[in-house]
This record gives sequence, structure tokens and C-alpha cells, in this order.
Amino acid sequence: MPIYKAPVDQMMFLLSDVFQIARYNNLPGFAEASADLIEAILTEAAKLCEEVVQPLNRVGDEEGCTRHPDGSVTTPTGFKAAYKQYAEGGWMGISAPAEFGGQGLPGTMTVAVNELMASANMSFAMYPGLTQGAIAAILLHGTPEQKATYLPKMIEGRWAGTMNLTEPQCGTDLGLLRSKAVKQPDGSYKITGTKIFISAGEHDLSENIVHLVLARLEGAPAGIKGTTLFVAPKVLPNPDGSLGERNGISCGSIEQKMGIHGNATCVINYDGATGWLIGQENRGINAMFTMMNEARMGVGVQGLAISEVAYQNAANYARERLQGRAISGAKFPDRPADPIIVHPDVRRMLMTMHAFNEAARALILWTSLQGDLVHRSDDEKTRQAADDHMGLLTPVIKGVITDVGFANTVLAQQIYGGHGYIVEHGMEQFVRDARIAMIYEGTNGIQALDLVGRKLPKDAGRALQAFFTEVQGFIKEHPNETMKDYVGPLGTALGHLQEATMWLMQNAMTKPDNAGAAAHDYMHLFGLVALGYMWCRMAQAANVKIAAGEAAEIMTSKLVTGRFFMERMLPETGAHLARIQSGAASMMELPAEAF
Ligand SMILES: Cc1cc2nc3c(=O)[nH]c(=O)nc-3n(C[C@H](O)[C@H](O)[C@H](O)COP(=O)(O)OP(=O)(O)OC[C@H]3O[C@@H](n4cnc5c(N)ncnc54)[C@H](O)[C@@H]3O)c2cc1C
Repeated sequence: MPIYKAPVDQMMFLLSDVFQIARYNNLPGFAEASADLIEAILTEAAKLCEEVVQPLNRVGDEEGCTRHPDGSVTTPTGFKAAYKQYAEGGWMGISAPAEFGGQGLPGTMTVAVNELMASANMSFAMYPGLTQGAIAAILLHGTPEQKATYLPKMIEGRWAGTMNLTEPQCGTDLGLLRSKAVKQPDGSYKITGTKIFISAGEHDLSENIVHLVLARLEGAPAGIKGTTLFVAPKVLPNPDGSLGERNGISCGSIEQKMGIHGNATCVINYDGATGWLIGQENRGINAMFTMMNEARMGVGVQGLAISEVAYQNAANYARERLQGRAISGAKFPDRPADPIIVHPDVRRMLMTMHAFNEAARALILWTSLQGDLVHRSDDEKTRQAADDHMGLLTPVIKGVITDVGFANTVLAQQIYGGHGYIVEHGMEQFVRDARIAMIYEGTNGIQALDLVGRKLPKDAGRALQAFFTEVQGFIKEHPNETMKDYVGPLGTALGHLQEATMWLMQNAMTKPDNAGAAAHDYMHLFGLVALGYMWCRMAQAANVKIAAGEAAEIMTSKLVTGRFFMERMLPETGAHLARIQSGAASMMELPAEAF
């Protein structure tokens, strides 16, 4: 059976030492979040994840969800009890506003807890994850009545949430959607249509499911600018908030799929279902973007989470599995063979995963702190800078961390040799589960296009310039001997990113295919620079701790892991740059019939 140990110490190092969360004490909810409280919360979450949620991961995979003839769906054995424990523990609303029953703590706390949850059991974690996304959308775009009706129950975990965009003919291109909404004399709308691939679309974990659904009003303009967002609960609430009649929403079927079997991926039919407007008519995509950004960060977190749990198991296995002898001479001559961790090629795989995971966690937590500034700072300039950061880094986090997170599950499987291919060890489940994160919430190809086509040019490149200035500033401020192994390679990688950006500016305006052809490499080049910067920040904080005589062994191990990243992973930026600069010609030259 796979093991999992929540990386609470690493999170504490990042929050306390690297990003110095205490500096944010002037923001609402941060003063209460002392280092001791954060550690206590993470330790409690770790217990829930390790002892309750993780043991259900295999069960969820083997049993999957069951749809009954009446359209109801049951989740795998144990999910309901675990969800009850999660809800009663108040985990859904740790960062939600106190006025709706939340605890008002930093959003970063939810992100950290969600990583632990998804490492323990990605399918299970998706149920509350989607609810948190729906809560965010209602908080920002709902009317006061909608907030009062839905938020307290959702934050309590009694009502769950979903996001309904996809239809059979419309995935990436939401402008093609056909679900219809007709306004009623009482101000509500009747919604008709079929949505597919709806995660957590139907289940038995909560009393009610609040669907956020994108549909088209009669006579709406064609394309994406004619879509409107509605809230449509499975059971209609009575005026006093109690559960009333069943709405015209049903689960037509659940998909048989490659992974995340414990999460019900549903076809949801709307048969004249009652819904209410969220935000403004024909501006649905704007409201949906709030949820999509939250959800994209959440999917990036899934990429890291699966990479982390896969790595932990591979590291354990590598210490125990005896095969061959170290090429430098036997390390354990008293045993029949050395453990495979002595072999450089096994080390290569372990270090690659380890160095990536720590930096990816740093990038996610740094960015979620910016998310807190966006929502909680009273200074407009700070809010704008943080919002720029979020916009720029969200596609990088979603695209890069899920691409590499999946690749890491394959590396972890490789460390198990043939045993990684066998169900018993659980490694093939990690591979299957991690795969979806590259596809949903906008495929990674679309994340790359979002970065190159929208986020770079936005506001005349303001966000990108701010990122360059910050990284360059750090390099200049740390010329000392202890940092040279880190800032030196980062300087080279940043140069590659700047060169690639310049090349795009000069070659993509007149030939848009050059931008499309460069996007994937640009996103990964950007990701490497951002992760390299995170290693520099971590190395600097580790040096400070070593100088203060604190945790020397752990900090030295961080410095070594960071050096591995700089020497062995960051140089990939050169290859990305070369591919970008080769342009689109050879990619686009062949006619479609040649394939
Ligand atoms: C398990 C699962 C759970 C899901 N959960 C939800 C959910 O909860 N709610 C929801 O609404 N949806 C959900 N989805 C749907 C998911 O978000 C879509 O599948 C995804 O956005 C891609 O859409 P598509 O499958 O139609 O692929 P398509 O849009 O047909 O894309 C096919 C390929 O073409 C590429 N492509 C398309 N357009 C372009 C372009 N303009 N430029 C470059 N490349 C392009 C894509 O990158 C992709 O590689 C889920 C899907 C799955 C499988």
C-alpha cells in the first residue's frame, strides 16, 4: 500500500522563513495566523489526510462511483464518512469570510491544506475543491440574497458545488455552447441543455448540489460574448432556506475513465431547470473566469500533490529494493545486493522529482500569498501588482506543474521497475490520476496560449516587466559567494527568457503561427525561470538559518537539492529558447493530408 507523509515542515519553512508570512500581518485574517497556529492547522490537516483520506485512495480507484436507475450516484465506500469528518472539521471554510460561517484565515492556508488533501486522495479532494471554487464565484458575483442563501450551507459542507461548462460540441471553444436559458416573469430562468464531463456532478456526500452553469439567453450574440452564468441548485431552496422541490436537473450517466475513479464525472441534463442569474447577462464568461482562475491554481496544486506522493513512495522503495552493486563499490557488503538508491540513474530520477516538488510548492504558496493581497490589501497599487502576478503565473502554475507532475509520476513508477506497472504498489494509479490535470480546466496547450497571447501583452507587458525586475533585483542583491551557484545559473536562464520574449515581440505579430508554435516551450521556459527563482529564495533563507545555527542538516540538504536543480534542470531553458527561435515553418509546412 502506498504511504503518505504530509510535508508540514517544508510548508512551514516556506511560509515562515522564505516568504515571511508575518510581514502580511496588516491584512485581514493574517494577524490571527501566527506561525504556531499555522503549524497546528497543518498538523491537524495532515492527520486527517494521512489517517482518514489517504486509506480511501485505493478503495476509490477500485470501486469507482455508481449511478443508480433513479439517477442518484453513490461514492465509494468510506467517502461519505470522510466527507462528514472534513465538513465537521470546518475545512471547507478555513479561508471563507466569517460573516458566512468561515474562519477568515488566509487563502494560502486553504491552498496548503488542499495540497495535502490531493496527495492523500485526488478524487476525494475534488468534491470540496469544486465547492470552494463555486463559493469564490458566488462571493464575487452573487447578489446579497444569493450569498445568504448559498454560502453558509456550502461553507458548512452541507451543500456542494460544481462548474458546468462543457458540452459535447464545446470544450475549449466555449463560444459554441448551446444550452438555453429563458427568462421567466418572476425573474428566474428556465435552463435546458446537456452538459458533459461534470466533475462531482452528482453524489451522495451532501444534501444539495449547487451547479454553476453557463448557458445562452434567447437572442444572445453568437460566440463567447453571448454566454451567461446561472446558479441552479439540484434541490430548490424554500424561502426559509430549507430544502424544497427537486429541480429539473439529473445525472444522465457517469463516465468510465482512465483515472480519478472516485470522483463522479457526470453527464448532467437540464430539463427546464430553474436557475438565477449570476453577474450580468451575456457576461457569463467574466464571472466564470473567477472560478476558472481559482480552479486552475487548484489543478496546479493537484499536479504537485500527485508528484509529491509518488516521489515519497519511490524514495521509500529505492531505499529498500536490493538490486546490483554500486558502481563505485559495494555500499552494503553484508547484504546480498545494494539498495537501488546507490545507483546514479535512480538518484537522477529521485532528485529530479524532489527538486521540482520543493520549488513547485514554493511557487504555489508565493502566488497564493499574492492572491490574498488581491482580495485583502487596502492599497490599490499592491492589489494591482498582486493581480498582475496572479494573472501571469496562473497559466504557468497550471500548465507546467501538471505537465511535470505527470512526468514525475512516470519517473516514480520507473523506480519501481516492473512492480510499478503492477496495481498492487499503487504507482500506476498515480500515473492515471495525474494525467487528467494536463487536460481539464483548459488543456495545457491552452494555458500556454493564454500566457503568450493574453498575459504577456496585457497592459503593455506590465506584469512581465514586474516579474523581470523582481528576479533581476534578487540576482543583483545577492552577489555573495554562498549564493553564486544559484544566482549565476538563474541569470543565464532569465537571459534566455528575455531573449525568447524579444523574439516573440519581433516575430509573432506579423506571423501569429510563430506565437502558437512557441507557446508550449515559452511556458516551460518561464516555469523553469520561476522555479529557479524559488530555489534562489529558498537557498537564501536556508543560508540565513544555517548562519543562525538552526536545522543545519535539513537546510544543507535543501542547498544540495537546489544546486541539483540549477545544474541539471535549469539548463533546459537553452533548448526551449532554441526551439522557440526556430519558428513555425517546419511545424506548419505539411498539408493536413500528409498526416
Ligand atoms: C475527467 C474530466 C473532468 C472534467 N470536469 C469538468 C467540469 O467539472 N466542468 C466542466 O465544465 N468541464 C469539465 N471537463 C471538461 C474539460 O475541461 C475539457 O475536456 C477540456 O477543457 C478540453 O475540451 P475538449 O475535451 O472538448 O477538447 P477540445 O477542445 O476538443 O481540444 C482537443 C485538442 O485540441 C486542442 N485545441 C483546441 N482548441 C485549440 C486552439 N484554439 N489552439 C490550440 N489548440 C487547441 C486542445 O488543446 C486539445 O489538445 C472535464 C473533463 C474530464 C475528462
